Amino acid sequence: MALRAIEERRMFSNFGPVNATFEEDMVARMFSGVGSCMTVCNATIGLMLAIQQAIGRRSTRPRYALMPSFTFAAAAQAALWCGLTPLLCEIDPVTWSACPQDEERLLALYGDDIAVVVPYATFGYDIDLMRYEAIMQRHKVPVVVDAAASLGTVSADGRGFGTGFKGTVVFSMHATKAFATGEAGVVYSNNQDRIHELRQMCNFGFGQARTATMPGLNGKLSEIGALLCQQRLNTFEETMIHRTAVMARYRAALPDLTFQPIQRGRQAHQFGVGLLPEGWGPHRSQFSAELTAAGIGNATYFSPHLAQQSYFVENAVFEDLSVTDDIAGRVISLPMFDTMTEADTDEVIAVVRQQMSAHTVSASMPAWSLPLDVTNAFRRHVAADQVH
Ligand SMILES: *Cc1c(COP(=O)(O)O)cnc(C)c1O
Repeated sequence: MALRAIEERRMFSNFGPVNATFEEDMVARMFSGVGSCMTVCNATIGLMLAIQQAIGRRSTRPRYALMPSFTFAAAAQAALWCGLTPLLCEIDPVTWSACPQDEERLLALYGDDIAVVVPYATFGYDIDLMRYEAIMQRHKVPVVVDAAASLGTVSADGRGFGTGFKGTVVFSMHATKAFATGEAGVVYSNNQDRIHELRQMCNFGFGQARTATMPGLNGKLSEIGALLCQQRLNTFEETMIHRTAVMARYRAALPDLTFQPIQRGRQAHQFGVGLLPEGWGPHRSQFSAELTAAGIGNATYFSPHLAQQSYFVENAVFEDLSVTDDIAGRVISLPMFDTMTEADTDEVIAVVRQQMSAHTVSASMPAWSLPLDVTNAFRRHVAADQVH
């Protein structure tokens, strides 16, 4: 029906009516009716647009995009496309988000050479946006939040993450996120004029009819893409309740893993992300391989972190990142998907527990190996819909 309606209207893109309705619904339901948003074809394009808009057409001298090294390549790539050099900071060992002290240190050190700050709301964690508004004011620097995994996160004040933020917030709806549609994103700001300008940039920089008046590209979401987003939104509350329950089950049954702190409000979970105990870093790849062998899909976001990826080693600036090295070295993403049953979750838990108890690892122990026949009992392919 809805597909036929699109066909009959003969309007397949260019912020058509399906898209317009979705954007309105999004602001109403996810952002308490506050601010404006715009869809994009994916969050990476959204970050490129938001960063380009933030830096405007100012100075041409070398400038930096300050971001944590513990994030996805997309943020650094977007900064590089905008002609900026990623300046990588440390993370907090508890929240795994940008370390406030290190951010302040780099803001003081690099001053006006920092063109934009790009914090990451790590795995949907509710980072302190008031602090970033204060940074915007104090340092006169724009802030673009990479909130790729945060659609569904509710802050302590009961509003969707990002609501009312004066900078720009970029969300992803990629298949790996809680709000998954395949490929899509949303750019939000409490500043309506900024969203208006971003929309023109997203449409070839056309400030006037077929006339480019600013930097631009084509980042538009098709009407069919918007329809998928709308349908996802309509049932999203159920999705969030389910994912919250899966995560609670992981937390309760896996006390040896360290998870991000539980906050007031609600965190959207794209995977079941935890840290292996201290000293397990050197054994993580084998642990991951054993899970895979037992049919448990798993991943290690974000390892390697940015400063460990060859392109960013050459094109980013960073110093010692030992906290990031440690966290990235021990992180493991367990399966999280919408059709996951309690039995599926328990199966994952059983394999993880079995792997962990079979081997008490100390930092000095050599890499261990496991008799595979034990884990084979669980081989029933708990697939993870989470591979980039
Ligand atoms: C998924 C993700 C992105 C990219 O989103 P796309 O919609 O796939 O372009 C950017 N940053 C982070 C931190 C992500 O997790």
